[in-house]
Formats: sequence, structure tokens, C-alpha cells
Amino acid sequence: MLFTTNFLGAVFKNSKGSVQDEIAIGEVTTDSRVKTHKSLFVPIAGENFDGHEFIKGAFDNGAVAALWTEDRPLPDFLPSDFPVFFVEDTLSALQKLAAEYLKQINPIVIGVTGSNGKTTTKDLIGSVVSSHYRTHRTKGNLNNHIGMPLTILSMERETEVLVLEMGMSGFGEIELLSKIAEPDYGVITNIGESHIEYLGSREGIAQAKAEIMAGMNTESTLFIDGDEPLLAPLKARANVIDCGFTEDNSVRAGKIKMKSDKTSFLLNGKEPYELNMLGEHNVKNALFAISIGKKLAIPEDKIKASLADLQLTGMRFEFVQGKNQSMVINDAYNASPTSMKASINVVKQMEPYQKKILVLGDIFELGEDSKSLHREVADVITKEISVLFTIGQDAEEISKAVSRQGELEAVDHFESMDQLVTELKPYLQEGTLVLLKASRGMKFEKMLEHITN
Ligand code: ATP
Ligand code: MG
Repeated sequence: MLFTTNFLGAVFKNSKGSVQDEIAIGEVTTDSRVKTHKSLFVPIAGENFDGHEFIKGAFDNGAVAALWTEDRPLPDFLPSDFPVFFVEDTLSALQKLAAEYLKQINPIVIGVTGSNGKTTTKDLIGSVVSSHYRTHRTKGNLNNHIGMPLTILSMERETEVLVLEMGMSGFGEIELLSKIAEPDYGVITNIGESHIEYLGSREGIAQAKAEIMAGMNTESTLFIDGDEPLLAPLKARANVIDCGFTEDNSVRAGKIKMKSDKTSFLLNGKEPYELNMLGEHNVKNALFAISIGKKLAIPEDKIKASLADLQLTGMRFEFVQGKNQSMVINDAYNASPTSMKASINVVKQMEPYQKKILVLGDIFELGEDSKSLHREVADVITKEISVLFTIGQDAEEISKAVSRQGELEAVDHFESMDQLVTELKPYLQEGTLVLLKASRGMKFEKMLEHITN
């Protein structure tokens, strides 16, 4: 049980139904289609659908109470003793409820934001912290103004540490999330180019991520990507810890080595660590997890063991067996220029394969500089790569630029996924490594069925 209707009555004064009889609430849901156990239904009016219209479904699926927008009539079918709490706005009520519940449980809160690597870092931190504390973390990618409150409200009462992913696409969003969650520890994983359309510039992006400080107090600690010049002004602040690769960082990783599917590194020049993921960027993500683990007094052997044995959220640099003993890396969960370059660099640094093939698609939401930002990806595509295939409107810029450099065995751009798959198939054999990388909307997972076993 999360709480009872009495708790709801304390948070929202305005109610209908017999809330004097305490009713236990087991979960909070915004989705009327999902079967629930004694849930509180929170109808949210979105652009396309209005949750209020689906209360019947929620009721049939197990809702035992609901929030409701004040000026709306209640449907007739509801029993007269069904507890309904009238609010001005159901979305802000959901957020308020999450904040109140969080205060009641009072776990240590860790908030993770950044352009790339939020989910990965959240999972790394979650893995380290859960080796020692009762931990609740964001499931998958539920990181926005609805998902984050729902994550808070799905935490068990015994939770000691809560790890929250905080995403955004414009100014003010992280501020809102941070004020709800009031993180004891904040993380800004990096500054990339995602959502530059709405934020104007990389400076704007840095500013929007720094909003995570809005809900933090003087006792809280912020961990930042210490290699990012745009975050450098934060280094002067008390309680800011810079993590990265360059010497001036207070937490540093060096001697990074990648072997099959593991990466090893030295922390601050002396402590060896191993991560069962590839990529320098993931070493940085791990630095945040190690630093937080140490702050929370987790024994070093537990920190080490949890990094070496991670359970990751799917489609992030996931190794899949390809046809004819080839190897496919599915990293098509999402993309930004930074993450695309990071993934290509990992592929280049990996052990020798006879052929390393890149299949790249469009990166969305890059605004008016989209074509030039795509073109810049070509800078990292050098002779360690044998073949480049692109698909999509702006990804063609990558092919064009790489063709001009003339270092690869084959470079081609395709108008359809079918064509691309047909051309790719002959390459699929033992000794071939294929990287799939594009924005989620490119639906690269459709390609997977044709090239994997
Ligand atoms: P989303 O905004 O979709 O929630 P996210 O910030 O949660 O994304 P992840 O899903 O963890 O990011 O990782 C997405 C991709 O970003 C990874 O596949 C990887 O290529 C890249 N990436 C991960 N960490 C970093 C980092 N620290 N710096 C740059 N790129 C990174
Ligand atoms: Mg994410």
C-alpha cells in the first residue's frame, strides 16, 4: 500500500465520496488501459486525448479513487461512495501528490539530467546503490513531468534511496522536476546538442541542465561533466564535484582500455575498476555512480562488483548476434550528434574486426543547423571503418562528407530501409561488426529482424 484516501484528503481538501472510510491506495496510474490493483486514477488532458474520458476503463481495471478537474461533470456510472478529489489541474495535482509522498517517505534523492547518458547513468547509480540500500529508480525512460512523479509514486514505503532520471525539451522543465524531487545529489552527465531547436544554443542547453540546482539546497552535492567547458563556471561553487578525463578534475578516470565487452580504467590514478559496457562515455557515467556510491559510504568491493555486473535498459549499445555469425550493435534507441560520435569512437576502438560497418540514420530535433551537425559526424568516420550506409533526409550529409574524404571501402546512401538491408546482407558474416545508430523515430528496430538471428 502507498497510502490511504485519508492522505489524499490531507493533500487535496476538496473531495467527494466517503473518504472518512479509509481506502487503501496501492498504486497511482494515468493509464486507464492498464490493469491495476487498487489504484488512484489521475486523468490527464493531453494534446490528443483527455484522460477524463477514460475513467470507465480505469474503474473497470481496478481504480478505487480518482483525481478530477473541478469544472467537469462526473460520469453517472460512478458509485456515489467512489472517492473523487476535485482539483484545479490534474497534472499539477499529480506533481503535488508526488512531492508530498516523497516528503513522507523521505529517501535520499538522486536526480540525473544531461543531454546524453541519463538513463545509462541512472542505471549505473541504481546498480551501485541497490547493492547496499533499498533503492527505487526510474523504470526505462519515464523522465518527464508525468513520468517522474509517477516514478516517485511507485516507490515502496521502505525506500532508502530514490534515483530519478530528469529529462526535458525546453527551459523550466528541469527546474520544475528538481523542485518536486529536491535532490540531495544531482548529476549533469554532459552537454550535447539535443533539443537545441528549443534552447537556441549549447549555452542554452547548459543553462537548462543547470536548473537541476533549483530544488537542491546548500547541503546537496552536484556532480558535473568536468570536461565540458560550458559547465566550468559551476566548478567554483561549493559542493560541486567535477568528474572527467582531464587532469584538473577532482574525480578522474585514466588508462581506459576496452576489451571484448568490458572497459577497464583507473580512478584517480590508482584504483582499478571494470565496467561491463563499452565506451569512454560510459566510463564517465560510471564515475558519477562511483562518486555517489562513495558519498553514501557503500563499501568499495560492492561498488566494483555492481559495475562489473550491470543490468542495462534495452537498446543502448546492445550486442545482438547477427546473421552468419556477424555481430550487430543496436544503439538505435536514440541519437544526438554527440552520442553518435561517441558510439562510432567506441566501434573504432574495439578489437579488430575484418569489417566494421556503420548504419546511420537521421538525428531529429536539431533545428536549422541540422545538416551541418550531421556533417560533423563525418569527422570521426575514419579508416578504421570499412563501410558506411546512411538513410534519412539529413543523414545523407554524413555520406556525402565521408565520400569526399575517400578513406572508406564503400559509402552509400539509401532511400528505403529495404534497399539498405539488401545491400547490407552480403556483408553479414563472421568478422563483421555492424553499428545501428539513429533517432528513435527512424524505427531502426525494423531493420534488426532482417539482419539478426
Ligand atoms: P534520452 O534523452 O533519450 O532519455 P539519455 O540521456 O537517457 O537519453 P541514454 O539512453 O543513457 O541517454 O544513452 C543514449 C546514448 O547516448 C547512448 O547510446 C550513448 O551512445 C550516448 N551516451 C551515453 N552517455 C554519454 C555521455 N556521457 N556522453 C556522450 N554520449 C553519451
Ligand atoms: Mg533516457
